[in-house]
Amino acid sequence: MKGNMMCQPLLISSLIEHAERYHADTAVISKNSDGTMTQSNWREVAANARRFANVLDHFQLTQGDRVATLAWNNHRHLESWYAISGSGYVCHTINPRLFPEQLTFIMNNAHDKVVIFDKTFVGLISEIKSALPRVEHFICLDAYDAEIEKALPDVLFYDLLIEKQSDQFIWPEFDENLASSLCYTSGTTGHPKGVLYSHRSTVLHSYASCLPDTFNLSAKDNLMPVVPMFHVNAWGIPYSAAMVGCGLVLPGPMLDGASLVELIDRYKVTNALGVPTIWQGLLNAAANLGSTLPSLIRNVVGGAACPPAMVLTFKERYQCETIHAWGMTETSPLGAVNQLKAKHTVLDDTDKLSLRLAQGRPPFGVQLRICDQEKGINELARDGLTAGHLQIKGHWIVSHYFAADQSALTQDGWFDTGDIATLDQDGYLKICDRSKDLIKSGGEWISSVELENIASSHPELEMVAVIAAIHPRWDERPILIAKKQAQSQVTAHEILTYYVNKIAKWQIPDQVVFVDTIPVGGTGKILKKELREMYGSILLES
Ligand code: AMP
Repeated sequence: MKGNMMCQPLLISSLIEHAERYHADTAVISKNSDGTMTQSNWREVAANARRFANVLDHFQLTQGDRVATLAWNNHRHLESWYAISGSGYVCHTINPRLFPEQLTFIMNNAHDKVVIFDKTFVGLISEIKSALPRVEHFICLDAYDAEIEKALPDVLFYDLLIEKQSDQFIWPEFDENLASSLCYTSGTTGHPKGVLYSHRSTVLHSYASCLPDTFNLSAKDNLMPVVPMFHVNAWGIPYSAAMVGCGLVLPGPMLDGASLVELIDRYKVTNALGVPTIWQGLLNAAANLGSTLPSLIRNVVGGAACPPAMVLTFKERYQCETIHAWGMTETSPLGAVNQLKAKHTVLDDTDKLSLRLAQGRPPFGVQLRICDQEKGINELARDGLTAGHLQIKGHWIVSHYFAADQSALTQDGWFDTGDIATLDQDGYLKICDRSKDLIKSGGEWISSVELENIASSHPELEMVAVIAAIHPRWDERPILIAKKQAQSQVTAHEILTYYVNKIAKWQIPDQVVFVDTIPVGGTGKILKKELREMYGSILLES
């Protein structure tokens, strides 16, 4: 016998309808490509989304057609997202920091029919346009600009297009399992592969990310997603924000620490989300500018391991609670979030901190396990000590990659993340490393993350990465690549001495390489593959 309750499909359009109906005047503030600010709200975002849906309606697209976006976090981009997915097309967000060849590969692979881009990317679009034969319309997300029209003769302008449209549009109702958006993996995990999210997976993911034990979002928040909308849909924040009706501050293209401090202080941001390199820049800038970030209550750090020193600085200097989260493109991305339980309140500060530094536990909707092999199904002990291949399953986890005919799952239906981790009995996850970043020295594993955490707590180092270098006797040995703080005179010997008594002697890196810059990829993560290519043979040379 079936239950007698209403059955409404979980559609992305219902999120923007909700935000408009109940939170119409809540501010959506946005920094434009030219640095100017736009003050909008959920009423205007929703109305413009409907106007742009009318524009798309004239393009004779078919349900499921891909509309690509190459844009920063701003209000026009947000409106276009709701218009695209709400109309039944697929919003394909693209990382503009990729090389032109990678961009054209991804756009052709996805069969994008329309490309929407920020003014910043006019040069890029001009360069790759001829390699995109399937694209029927190019839309610049801005007001009319004669210079841009000269560079790209057939270009359409977003503001001109929506200006002529009615704000009346009835969002179509369809199967919640239809595709809503497409993100390609960032390449941290190998060759870019498309992950095709559905309306259902997106709405369920939004419910989970708002919960008190995840990002704890509410209508009282003023949220700043620093994580770009092309990095796993800004971790779903544009959807969760509409679900709870909180304020949004969209930081545009300038993600340096000083610009972010300015936005947080001026617009009283309560909660912001980003990768560790972003927060490092913010902490440096806040200290230089003398800001105490008074409005910032919480910040979420994810995408890469959070250095312990960062949690402490946010807490002690800024009274800001840092929430460490783990996820990946394939997991929408929410896989685990670190919030403590009632039983942890009795712990002292040191034990609380050590628990908080791990990646947290899964919210309802996903399950985690660790196994002995990548494709294996022998589950390992949840004792907080045994490390194994981390696997995940749940409502918003990929089952197969875009345009792939093979399943991406193990025989018994789990997705192998490529991470090596421990789990404890409460499900608290600790990522030891990515399987390919682990260092195998004389048959023993060394975690690069653990060595990085120690180095990054050294006050004279600004940015660090540990990689495996080939060693004639031990196969691999860890080496530390480090960027010093400005004016620092610290020596390699001092850094290596800093490791003593913090870690087993044989795990201390063999060498320190000081560099001016550490390569960072499009989503703000350190490019270890590049570092391995540059320094992987350094121990053979000495
Ligand atoms: P991406 O799909 O590019 O976001 O990359 C996902 C990968 O980033 C994961 O498989 C992890 O290796 C890494 N990652 C994400 N969050 C964390 C975290 N909090 N700590 C350590 N590694 C992380």
